[in-house]
Amino acid sequence: MSDEPTMDGDDPSSSRSSRSPARSWRRRRPGFTLGDLEVKAGRSAIGEVPIPRLVTGTPVSLPLRVVHGRHDGPTMLVSSAIHGDELGGVEIVRRVTESLVPADLHGTVILVPIVNVHGFLTGDRYLPDRRDLNRSFPGSATGSLASRIAHVFMDQLVTRCDVGIDLHTGSDHRTNLPQIRAELDDPTTHDLATAFGAPVLLQAKLRDGSLRAAGLAAGVTMLLYEGGEALRFDEPAITAGVDGIRRVAHHLDMTPDAEPPPLPRDDQGRPRTPILSRRSAWVRARRSGVTSMAADLGDRVDKGDLLAVVHDSLGHRLSRARAPFDGVVIGRRQHPLVHQGDAVVHVAQIEPPTSHAEPDAEPDAAHDAESDDRPDGRADHPDDRSVAPDPASTNDPTSPTDPSPTQIQDPR
Ligand SMILES: [Zn+2]
Repeated sequence: MSDEPTMDGDDPSSSRSSRSPARSWRRRRPGFTLGDLEVKAGRSAIGEVPIPRLVTGTPVSLPLRVVHGRHDGPTMLVSSAIHGDELGGVEIVRRVTESLVPADLHGTVILVPIVNVHGFLTGDRYLPDRRDLNRSFPGSATGSLASRIAHVFMDQLVTRCDVGIDLHTGSDHRTNLPQIRAELDDPTTHDLATAFGAPVLLQAKLRDGSLRAAGLAAGVTMLLYEGGEALRFDEPAITAGVDGIRRVAHHLDMTPDAEPPPLPRDDQGRPRTPILSRRSAWVRARRSGVTSMAADLGDRVDKGDLLAVVHDSLGHRLSRARAPFDGVVIGRRQHPLVHQGDAVVHVAQIEPPTSHAEPDAEPDAAHDAESDDRPDGRADHPDDRSVAPDPASTNDPTSPTDPSPTQIQDPR
């Protein structure tokens, strides 16, 4: 662990300090202690939290940075790569770190760029025990590898925070429009989610074992940010994530900036306000083949609009994907080859201004927009269920029960 030189906490150029001369005689803010790391107020330091070793005996730890503000304020956790192949958050953390000035900061920011270190080393979403770390919270000191790491993370970091922002990307060759998934019925969460300023706010049910659920149970206001794709840096998603975190910090009065980063503008030059959605669905391929996409991230679609076409390798059209409802495209497959049942396009419903749709009005068709954006589920973990229940997805394409509104329409 090393204490890095930073701006002096008594720097008179600090804008809040200059507005509050009385602060000069007040007691200095106590330091932040984590294990043998102590960070003085107005300082930034890096540290690490030990976790189980590699099979080689090599020690492993969670790398982290603590930016301990000169002034009192809330404690915010920013974490990423809880899925080891989701790299976008690592870059978001780096840029957020650059933007923080400890001498001006009110409160403390704990940044953990790589939570799933084992998976990160191999570009793997999961841990070596094939468990999903984001289904292993709050964890246990005597449980599985995933459970032990979750326990350390919860016990030493999450429970010390007021606010948590967990950064994710799409998985398995899928990419996501920048979006916040959160418990929007909670007013505090709703306020922070709105302050983040992502293009879409998605009401997301809590899932057992997720960091978001465990954090909320521990009294931490949690936001989950999704944007971009695994194993790639997606510049718009990274920029949206950095600006969003800075807007949340500004909303919490942690930073002295007069204004937060401005919201992106729409075609008319007006600040673009987030779209609120309480329901979403992955449209799945009804035939195996080669996909031509007709919709891109952020596109507004009406019910029935064409999203994608599946051909065979000789050019015969096999099926078409259409929008199940009026909405916005928040996720799409990047890999052109699909098997029957593969998730192709993710549409979030836009609620008509006059209606107040219930979030569980059509639970079979609604995508459970939980934290990891895996519409396909995994057979090797019974507790890792599909997040996109799609009752007709395994039906024979010619079944009289078809078509489901979330299915690719088959002309044959
Ligand atoms: Zn993830």
